[in-house]
Order: sequence, then C-alpha cells, then structure tokens
Amino acid sequence: MEIQPVQVIGGGLAGTEAAWQIAQHGVPVILYEMRPQRFSPAHHTEQLAELVCSNSFGAAASDRAAGLLHEELRQLGSIIIAKADEHAVPAGAALAVDRGQFSQDLTQTLARHPLIELRRQEIRAIPEGIVVLATGPLTSPDLAENLRRFTGMEYLSFFDAASPIVIGETINREIAFFASRYDKGEGAYLNCPMNKQQYLQFWQALCTAEQTELKDFERETAKFFEACLPIEELARRGEDTMRYGPLKPVGLSDPRTNERPYAVVQLRQEDKAGQLWNMVGFQTNLRWGEQKRVFQMIPGLENAEFVRLGVMHRNTFLNAPQLILPTLQFKNRPTLLAAGQLIGTEGYTAATAGGLLAGINAARLALGKEPLTLPPTTMMGALFEFISSASPKHFQPMPPNFGILPPLQEKIKNKQQRYGYYRDRALTDLKSWKIKHL
Ligand SMILES: Cc1cc2nc3c(=O)[nH]c(=O)nc-3n(C[C@H](O)[C@H](O)[C@H](O)COP(=O)(O)OP(=O)(O)OC[C@H]3O[C@@H](n4cnc5c(N)ncnc54)[C@H](O)[C@@H]3O)c2cc1C
Repeated sequence: MEIQPVQVIGGGLAGTEAAWQIAQHGVPVILYEMRPQRFSPAHHTEQLAELVCSNSFGAAASDRAAGLLHEELRQLGSIIIAKADEHAVPAGAALAVDRGQFSQDLTQTLARHPLIELRRQEIRAIPEGIVVLATGPLTSPDLAENLRRFTGMEYLSFFDAASPIVIGETINREIAFFASRYDKGEGAYLNCPMNKQQYLQFWQALCTAEQTELKDFERETAKFFEACLPIEELARRGEDTMRYGPLKPVGLSDPRTNERPYAVVQLRQEDKAGQLWNMVGFQTNLRWGEQKRVFQMIPGLENAEFVRLGVMHRNTFLNAPQLILPTLQFKNRPTLLAAGQLIGTEGYTAATAGGLLAGINAARLALGKEPLTLPPTTMMGALFEFISSASPKHFQPMPPNFGILPPLQEKIKNKQQRYGYYRDRALTDLKSWKIKHL
C-alpha cells in the first residue's frame, strides 16, 4: 500500500524536527515553510529552524531542566540537538550554537533526505490528511484565523501576558497562608501579607525597576490588551492602585495576627499536584533579573524559586488543555497534531521536543500504529502531560522545569541532589520506554 505523505506546516524548530522524525520512520513528508515568500515579524532568513533571538538552548548540564531535555532528545535521536551539539560555541554552562551554521546545516540535511520534500509556500487553511501544525508564536494571520474557526474563538490566544510561577516548596509557609477572599470556596490561594512599610518599599522598587523593550509588532499587539496591564504600569498609576487591584486585602485575615493585612499578593495553584504557584495579576515587562530582585521582597517569597518569570509578548498559542492530548493529537481530529510554541510550550528546546513526539506519532498514524505518550517522569512526558491537563481557564505557556515532574518518593532537601535524582529517574525510564516502543 502506498503511504500518503504527512504534511508538516512550518519549518521552525518544531516543524524541522517533526519532518525529520517522520522521514526517519520511513514515511514521506512534505514540509511547508512560508519563508522567503513571506516573513514573520521576527524571522530574517530563509533557513529552516532559524533561531529568532538568543542563540542559546539553555543550561547544558543534565541536572538542569533544559539540560535534561537536551539529553532526552539526544537519546531519542533529535536532529536539532545533534546539529546544536555539532555547531556549539563556547557559552559557559549553556548549549549555544553558531546560528548561521546551525540553520544552514539543518536546511541542507533535510533537503538531502529522500523522503522529505520542502515546499516554500504559505498554508492558509488546515489541509486534509495527517498533518502536523508547527507554525509557531507568529503563525501567519490567515492560518491563525482558520485555526481560530476550527478550534473556536476562545481557544487561540495572540498575546502572552504571563505572570511568574514559583515552586511551592520555596514559599515560606510561616508567612504565606491559605485562604480565599471572604472564605469563598476552598482556601485555594496562598496569600503573602504585607504591612504598610513593606508595601511602600515594594511599590517604590516596582516603579523604578528596569523594563524590557517591547518590539514594534509587540507594542501594536499590546494595545489591544489594556485589560491586562503589567504590574509595574499599575504601580506607576498611583501609590494605592495595586491595593485596589490584584493586591487588595479585602476579605482576608492573617491567621498570625487575626487582622487584615495592608496588602496581599495571592498565588494560585497552577498544576494538579500543587507544586507550582502562579502570582495572580503579576504579568510584567520587567527584566528577568529585576523580577527576581523585586518579587523576592514580597514577604513569604524571600527564597522563592521561579520556574518561569513573567513575560508579555506576541504569542499565538492554543488552549492545549481543552484541545490537545498528551500524544499531541487534537482531541476532535486525531489525524491533526500540533507542536512547538503553538501548543503552549515555551522555548527552543521544548519546541524541538514537541516536534519530535508529534513527528513520531504522525509517522505511526501513517503506518497504522497506535500513537505514543512518553513516561510522565521524563521532562518531555511531564511537559506534554502538563499542557494537556493544566487548568484551561488560566492556561499559560510553560517552559521545561522540575516543578512539573511527579515528586520523588523520598524527600531530598538538597536541591542539586534532588535534581540529580530526577535526572536519573527520567533517563532510566526513558531507556526502558525506548526498548519497549522504538
Ligand atoms: C520575538 C521572539 C523572540 C524569542 N526569543 C526566544 C529566545 O531567545 N529563546 C527561546 O528559547 N525562545 C524564544 N522565543 C520563542 C521561540 O519562538 C520559540 O522558542 C521557538 O522558535 C518556537 O519554535 P516553533 O517551531 O514553535 O516556531 P518557529 O520557530 O517560529 O517556527 C514556525 C515556522 O512556521 C512558519 N510559518 C508560520 N506560518 C506559516 C504558514 N501559514 N505556512 C507555512 N509556514 C508558516 C514560520 O515562518 C516559521 O519558520 C522567541 C519568540 C519570539 C516571537
């Protein structure tokens, strides 16, 4: 029986990896990339897998979240990580690449594969057949509109205004307390109380902290999101503006004093296991170093570890928990898969990981085999489990981090040692999985 080619849309990190995996499984693939016919506002070359900003894939050591993901991808035969290793440049503890050589080599390698056909064409509507969507955070407008009609208006976002996320066990529970305003519902929030002096110091630090510059196209998009003001902008509108907004203390009483605090920062549970906590209303454009400095002034967050800092940028992404299975298939159309920033993972390495799994599963579908999920104890498996099971109401993109892995059976206090155990468990489980499935 002749196998119909799988169609991959978008030749970024996810699409390039997906196309390679499909072809390596013996299935023909057509990879559509709109450049150079049309450029996104951030891409500048016609090469596949262009790195739009930094040339770094994050920390290289395998006991760091990004490094563990690199290692898992190496074990599974990722072409992106193989080429990143080949074109690595000295970058201290990070895996960084010569971006020109990296993308050019990938473009030539894919072009030489007998089962890959590269078509330089913009796709404006989701095609029939087995398809992998990997058009990234700057998906072209016509396809985004088509996707919005396919998924439903509310399931596609165009702007990411994400608050920082903190690892629960690094929040000081002697200060932060569980409660909901006016005791409505369960005590679903962790509350960090401030007295007047603490609030004023925090307010001043926020007003004077350094911001990142939005790009022109992001500034344009941001205008439509007045409802989602950065916390520092709110602070600049007046001393009390935050106290009448996200930091309002009404309906809350500090159990240590039985009094209403002067202001309260609330954190909302982000994952099912309660390991990750989202700072409510703290979307921000502050520089990352500044975010750590200023947010650690909040009582209870002195030693907070952030798995993701706040960002506000143009980002087209799906509400994956509503739409996507951990196999990266759409729930309502199993022959359609998606990967990369579009499904709400964040960063180059996570996009590569999505491309790898979507590619394997698209090839398996073409060969009449069941699609696979990865062990939840691996960084890849945990990432796809998270995006398919997080709360759809508050869904925001997620980078790889140790907070999404299932806890270890034994509690290990030393962080570096704990991360080493996570790494060992992930790589052992991945090895068994590989023997069983690939
Ligand atoms: C301005 C900006 C800066 C960023 N900086 C970083 C950073 O420093 N580090 C980091 O880890 N992440 C960064 N990101 C996030 C980054 O985009 C992702 O990590 C990564 O590029 C996502 O990979 P992807 O394959 O999902 O999308 P992309 O790499 O963007 O690939 C999508 C591809 O699809 C193509 N395409 C789009 N629409 C169509 C269509 N209709 N038909 C055919 N082709 C189409 C595009 O031309 C593009 O080649 C940044 C994002 C932006 C927007």
